[in-house]
Amino acid sequence: MDGKAISKEIQAEIAAEVATFTKQSGITPCLAAVLVGDDPASEVYVRNKHRACERVGIASQMHKLPASTTEEELLSLIDSLNQASDVHGILIQLPLPSGIDTLRVLDAVNPRKDVDAFHPENVGLISQGRPRFLPCTPHGVQQILDRCGVELSGKHAVIVGRSDIVGKPMSMLLTAKDSTRGPQAANATVTICHSRTRNLAEVCRSADVIIAAVGIANFVTVEMVKPGAVVVDVGINRTDEGLVGDVDFAAVSQIASQITPVPGGVGPLTVTMLMYNTFDAAKLLSS
Ligand code: NAD
Repeated sequence: MDGKAISKEIQAEIAAEVATFTKQSGITPCLAAVLVGDDPASEVYVRNKHRACERVGIASQMHKLPASTTEEELLSLIDSLNQASDVHGILIQLPLPSGIDTLRVLDAVNPRKDVDAFHPENVGLISQGRPRFLPCTPHGVQQILDRCGVELSGKHAVIVGRSDIVGKPMSMLLTAKDSTRGPQAANATVTICHSRTRNLAEVCRSADVIIAAVGIANFVTVEMVKPGAVVVDVGINRTDEGLVGDVDFAAVSQIASQITPVPGGVGPLTVTMLMYNTFDAAKLLSS
């Protein structure tokens, strides 16, 4: 499953819609990114998000603060971005330096500008099946699966990982009755596995679709995969051999019916779905 190609396809769709919207409303959607400290990986992620903005006709602002920034200073910046009428989406790049209360900062973002869908109000709306914004990585996974012809409805999906960013929201999207791609891309029977799950290999072997979001290189081995299953690898692990996912790609790709590579799988979709949400935020705030 070629995440790069699918991401390009969706960006072209968003760009066309943004162009029409801007022409009709006179509003250019705008994403403000906040980066605290000098984590090199975070700088790369933020740069990629700005490039994606340019490609789809979304304006972007970069607010780079030193690692010495206090929580109060950061909250004050968020307050001004919450008020700014020309800013539609606010992105706080994680991780924040130690000493800053990440949840307090994320909770301070105006839920109508919360394009990462991390705010408790937005998480609540997703869990009730009436989302305002969809979490970027899980929504990207759903887009890949549907655009590759994988039907989820009635299938058994096993998600490995229970984080608030990937595993948990992924389970909410896949158990929902409908999706941005229609009911066939949701309505799955979902099992969430985590570090205390017993008989993990056995549970994974019962999956029609495995979604790995663990953060351990080569965690999902060929013995854990049913022949013909679909495997989505969300993991990004830096090793001596470069970036690898959570799945032993060489072996698992021999028996899976479809599989995402790392890099070039889920990663590009995460950024693209952030563009999708920023555009939605601009429509929401202008309506
Ligand atoms: P996390 O560390 O918050 O969560 C990892 C999860 O894996 C935890 O819920 C934990 O219970 C589970 N886990 C750990 N060890 C386990 C074990 N032995 N057996 C079963 N489960 C186990 O990580 P995260 O934020 O969800 O990210 C997971 C991976 O996905 C990371 O590699 C991260 O870099 C990557 N990621 C990629 C994207 C993307 O755009 N492709 C986006 C977000 C995260």
